[in-house]
Amino acid sequence: INVNLKTKKYDIVISQSENDFFTALEKAVKTNTFFVITDKNVEKLHLKYFTHFLKQKGFNVKIAVINAGEIGKSIKSLSFLYDKALEAGIDRKNCAIAFGGGVVGDVAGFFAATYMRGINYIQVPTTLLAMTDSSVGGKTAVNIKGGKNIAGVFYQPDLVWINSTFLSTLTERHIKNGLAEIIKYAFTFDKKFYGYLSDTLKNGTVSPKDFDYIIYQSCSYKARVVEKDEKEITGLRAVLNFGHTFAHALETATKYKKFLHGEAVAIGMLFAIKLSLELRICKPETYKGVENLLQKADFTLSTKNNARQMLSLMKKDKKSIDGNIKFILIKDIGKTVSTYVKNNVVLNVLKNFTGENK
Ligand code: NAD
Ligand code: ZN
Repeated sequence: INVNLKTKKYDIVISQSENDFFTALEKAVKTNTFFVITDKNVEKLHLKYFTHFLKQKGFNVKIAVINAGEIGKSIKSLSFLYDKALEAGIDRKNCAIAFGGGVVGDVAGFFAATYMRGINYIQVPTTLLAMTDSSVGGKTAVNIKGGKNIAGVFYQPDLVWINSTFLSTLTERHIKNGLAEIIKYAFTFDKKFYGYLSDTLKNGTVSPKDFDYIIYQSCSYKARVVEKDEKEITGLRAVLNFGHTFAHALETATKYKKFLHGEAVAIGMLFAIKLSLELRICKPETYKGVENLLQKADFTLSTKNNARQMLSLMKKDKKSIDGNIKFILIKDIGKTVSTYVKNNVVLNVLKNFTGENK
């Protein structure tokens, strides 16, 4: 997949062959020295294989390992990476490689954007979420005490290599976490892809043989949107936020402990379709269609959080104006509308959702 931005072009290579990767690598960057950034889990599982074939090609490989999980997405990790890179003699002509999930991708991207005012970097994602969402689009960030993704910058990679064989070691929970955003692409962009997923998804998972096609479709949608609205200015990229206003409130209310992001997005998508139905933006069949696919993916689809608290958290969303919350809603599978919804309507649907209206 080619990503054609105004300021930069790069490729997303979906392939299980190292040769395909090397061909693309030679085209994308001109250096012999790579700074591979990974986390402690991926280090144990896959780093040896990955660095082995880089070294075999005659490249110099320097390695830095950050803590695994959201805790690793910190200014502390960044500071560690700057020191480590300098110590290893990494200069402006060298290239960083983000080898891991979304956490590694976001931190390594931020590092690459700022180390010596910016060096090249490549994404080699190892989770389904990173393969279908976070490795494409150039959003990088770290968390601070006050909140998630508060310090960040747009910085596009020079290449993305997706090798789905890395998924063989990923837990079922993290596979499902990635599925939520994949399903989101179907709801917001493509009825055909919705049909494909309905036929393919079984008991909350897909067969490994279907991964490459699903990844290809997902990256294509994301790339096309990012091309049209790289920095979320025109509002086009906001379509990707379907289900997210609710999800972010839920993640905040539960202190990022109870739900993985995708799990919160799945509930958020059901909430958004309930809202679409309530406002008669969609037909009952469309509502059923959304609910069905979410059920096939076997997501937990309810929450007992307090409706008023959820409303006040949603009002803090970046897209809210004068306390009115903007939602991406669904007209029909594959067709979205973006609209402000009155607080009393949101609250009523929330109360039905959390069971407070019963
Ligand atoms: P993650 O990077 O924490 O990975 C999840 C867990 O899986 C970690 O424990 C990791 O060590 C482990 N892991 C990674 N690859 C593995 C493999 N192949 N086998 C076994 N275990 C493996 O989390 P994630 O879900 O990949 O990403 C979430 C992060 O991505 C969040 O911080 C989120 O904010 C960010 N994100 C960014 C964007 C973006 O556009 N930049 C988009 C969505 C999400
Ligand atoms: Zn998301």
